[in-house]
Amino acid sequence: MLANLAANSKVAKTLDDGIGKSHAACMGLVIDLPAIAANWNALAARAPGARAAAVVKADAYGLGADRVAPALYAAGARDFFVALASEGRAIRPLLPDDAQIFVLSGHMEGADLSGLIPVLNSPEQFFRDRALRPKGPFGIQLDSGMNRLGLEAGEWAAIRTEALAAGPALVMSHLACADEPDHPANAQQLAAFRVMTEGVTAPRSLAATGGILLGPEYHFDLVRPGIGLYGGQPYTDARPVVLLALPVIQMREVKPGESVGYGYAWVAQRVSRVATVAAGYADGLARALAREGGLKLWAGDIAVPVIGRISMDLITVDVTDLPDVPATLEVLNPRQGVDDLAALSGTIGYEILTSLGRRYERTWL
Ligand SMILES: *Cc1c(COP(=O)(O)O)cnc(C)c1O
Repeated sequence: MLANLAANSKVAKTLDDGIGKSHAACMGLVIDLPAIAANWNALAARAPGARAAAVVKADAYGLGADRVAPALYAAGARDFFVALASEGRAIRPLLPDDAQIFVLSGHMEGADLSGLIPVLNSPEQFFRDRALRPKGPFGIQLDSGMNRLGLEAGEWAAIRTEALAAGPALVMSHLACADEPDHPANAQQLAAFRVMTEGVTAPRSLAATGGILLGPEYHFDLVRPGIGLYGGQPYTDARPVVLLALPVIQMREVKPGESVGYGYAWVAQRVSRVATVAAGYADGLARALAREGGLKLWAGDIAVPVIGRISMDLITVDVTDLPDVPATLEVLNPRQGVDDLAALSGTIGYEILTSLGRRYERTWL
């Protein structure tokens, strides 16, 4: 339902500038692939002793794995992580043969893993994989304290000799609290991973975005940034990656005492101009964003308040103070990022990104 009205000249203008600098009015969701590549390069440079992989699970955090993965390959990434075998199969044909695609859920029963590398999480997965793909490449995930995925120390001890003899492509673990640098779990998990992988000659990996920022002792041979590529916390130096501009469908004037939207939740105190824009909670803009009245949309440099309730397909905005109402109002731009929205609705930038709706007109720069 979001109109396909992206004016080519304006998208081209944005392309020239990158969304970090542009004030051009774009329509829909604009995804800045050069910014993602720049973030990948910058995070890789933070871990100069390690290879930098790219995590592109959940459709590259909602931004389109079919565009993002090839762009990151072009930037130099050769190691990719997805959650599910189906996600890996979707990008396998888009990447040259020297790209390795690791599947974090490992070897699930019945999975088609051709061209993919399962990261085996349990003794059961290990024996299933070796029985069905005796020559197939595999990785191992160890649990260093998070208790989510991976072999525990005792399980690892039992299969370690056999597993290492089979030549794993990767031995990895995952940090639970890396976005809190002072959390004692970081050092504890690092120590546990060191103990479990002592003498291992296969490539080792512990750090995602947060772990990269914790420092070199966390980097090992391969780092696995995800959110930092897409402009989210905890990588505060990221270049902004998404611009989301919502088309204005209708304008109206309301008199003092008149109400706007479901539940008559907002009542005009003055003669007001109201813009209705085309997106709502079905597009990932949760009702909770407008709960405390804190959500703003942007017209260039000027912020205007969302009023009333967010409905399924529509949001109403008080544009009384705008000298001119543009064709679109922005909800994500360099001034208001995914973490700002997350703070308003009590979640994290990851969830805002992966919730971005399928109805937006999408443009990849
Ligand atoms: C999602 C995930 C990552 C990437 O994490 P970010 O915090 O997005 O950088 C890395 N490794 C594993 C195992 C993951 O599940």
